[in-house]
Amino acid sequence: MIIGKTGPNEKRIKINLDINCTNCNCKVPGGIQVSESYYETEEFEKELEQFKKNYLCGKCRDEKRVAKR
Ligand SMILES: [Zn+2]
Repeated sequence: MIIGKTGPNEKRIKINLDINCTNCNCKVPGGIQVSESYYETEEFEKELEQFKKNYLCGKCRDEKRVAKR
């Protein structure tokens, strides 16, 4: 997963995070990528917060998709 805007030639940093699914609360180990210039900016912190708040594991995402049908 890539967070924020990254230019094609921008160096990306990989960050490993444990994210909790917002629905079933299971822990999902995952990594995100962010461009070097975006990392540690306030904007990035905010986006990461939003990302965590809306995160669903694969299983819950599937269930949501099925429910919508
Ligand atoms: Zn889940």
